[in-house]
Amino acid sequence: ALTIGIVGLPNVGKSTLFNALTKNQVLAANYPFATIEPNVGVVNLPDTRLTKLAEIFGSERILPAAVSFVDIAGIVAGASEGEGLGNKFLANIREADAIAQVVRGFVDPDVVHVDGAVNPASDMETINTELILADLQTLEKAEARFEKEVKGKKLDPNVLVVAKEARAVLDSGKPLSSSNIDFSPIAELGLLTAKPFIYVFNVDESVLTDDAQLAALAALVAPAKAIFLDAKLESELIDLEPEDAAELLASTGQTESGLDQLARIGFATLGLQTYLTAGPKESRAWTIPQGAKAPQAAGVIHTDFEKGFIKAEVVSFDDLVETGSIAEARAHGKARIEGKDYVMQDGDVVEFRFNV
Ligand code: GDP
Repeated sequence: ALTIGIVGLPNVGKSTLFNALTKNQVLAANYPFATIEPNVGVVNLPDTRLTKLAEIFGSERILPAAVSFVDIAGIVAGASEGEGLGNKFLANIREADAIAQVVRGFVDPDVVHVDGAVNPASDMETINTELILADLQTLEKAEARFEKEVKGKKLDPNVLVVAKEARAVLDSGKPLSSSNIDFSPIAELGLLTAKPFIYVFNVDESVLTDDAQLAALAALVAPAKAIFLDAKLESELIDLEPEDAAELLASTGQTESGLDQLARIGFATLGLQTYLTAGPKESRAWTIPQGAKAPQAAGVIHTDFEKGFIKAEVVSFDDLVETGSIAEARAHGKARIEGKDYVMQDGDVVEFRFNV
């Protein structure tokens, strides 16, 4: 499954956020290095279309798509050199498909900041420097191995070329994602700074309603996406009934919880989209890569569906809502029969025809 790794300095609220993500109680304690075991949490992708589909089809249940998050220990400056707990734990996010960096924006004299003061820009620089150094270490080791393998004619020399190009980018103090080089030949190394990044600012409620402050923080990370939330508030929201949660959220001037934002933006950052199926049993969202064709989409339901794919009947969600039923959508020419080259669109409501 596709996962997003969570990184950040100690005491920025990673565990608090992760608790909210999983509704589990992992250790959230007020001292550095409290988080030591990697944890995985799965979060539903909020999708109001499913509620509507369930209404139209009289579905018994709703099954949303999900995003996985891996929580790792905090990184401190020097982690890549073995100080603190960092480097060992960086290994846990090599496998992640994207990285969410939690940045502390909340001020609380009772919660120690590892560097003594709350400063988002300098915190991000610390983390990014550590990730760059960790990638440099990985590359140096790999290059020695690549050189031998190229000499022994066991490896495409282009792999070594790309590795050297990657090192030059990192040596200049920049993350790999800042360059246009195609790093896919060295994808196996799981280089951290080549992954897509999301920034999660854990801020006080007062900041959430201050557009000027939010814009200033967003500008720090653009073009990467920024999410703003109050981890403490998020952990309170998950314990409330939906109506009460919505009310509390509204009282802070927000329309969507931080966790919902995280799932939604994380999903898009991973290059994913969903299509929908619906019937009396269930209304369900299925996860596919953006650009996936119909047979690949069918294969997510069952591998036999991909092998035996014949065609798909597709109605866009909006057309379905407008016409009110599949039968009416057909009557109005809104139900399309698509073949194996059809590129799936987000929100397609689909029924596959296949041979078994
Ligand atoms: P981690 O080390 O990054 O995992 O940080 P934790 O989640 O353990 O949080 C460290 C401390 O900060 C805990 O005492 C939390 O209760 C507190 N904390 C986390 N988020 C917030 C927040 O949004 N506001 C305030 N005031 N405190 C927070």
